[in-house]
Amino acid sequence: MQYCFTNRFGGISQAPYENFNLGLHVNDNPSHVEHNRRLLKAQCNVPHIMFMNQVHSADVTVISGIMPVPTCDAMITNQKGIALAVMVADCIPILLYDSVNEAIGVVHAGRTGSALHVGTRCIQKMHQVYGTEAKDIKLWMGPSIGGCCYEVGKDVTVGLEDCLHVRENRYFLDLPSFNKADFLALGVKETNIVHSTICTCCNPDYFSYRRDTITGRFVGVIWL
Ligand SMILES: [Zn+2]
Repeated sequence: MQYCFTNRFGGISQAPYENFNLGLHVNDNPSHVEHNRRLLKAQCNVPHIMFMNQVHSADVTVISGIMPVPTCDAMITNQKGIALAVMVADCIPILLYDSVNEAIGVVHAGRTGSALHVGTRCIQKMHQVYGTEAKDIKLWMGPSIGGCCYEVGKDVTVGLEDCLHVRENRYFLDLPSFNKADFLALGVKETNIVHSTICTCCNPDYFSYRRDTITGRFVGVIWL
């Protein structure tokens, strides 16, 4: 198993997508994005990378071969040569690995997906399909917007009270902590969770929707 998280450097996209934008849905020049995706494939040295049409759901797609881009927010596979990618610009890119059954997964966890427990739903699907046990999962939570910057309206905090911080009558969500607590509750070992401390909104090396609105997407990628 290998994995990586990209940042905004190393591609050919022009402002405001400069420059390693991997999202085809953000109105960047498609030929630039396709070029960037070929660069990513070469860097990972994999024959194929599966992307998702991400819609803030808790739907998990099982990838058993090359197929059209699925509409979902998590994918799992045990196929060698098919890398799984999750695109983000503030949401949490989560990569999962079950070394016992040689299976992997990716999760797109924003506010809506987190409230729907998309991360633990993905592990439950890995259990159904591959026999994965939560205690055997190793997972990586990549750079995402932190509780420092993720201010929201009180109306969208329902179900996320456990990671809500109120400062001077303003509401902030700490989604990485919420997801981590969810994983621990399912039985993932704390020592098997690697959690980036980078806030995408604070750190200009990463695309941030909250900071820039019109911007690119970086990715987390994992492959067997
Ligand atoms: Zn921040």
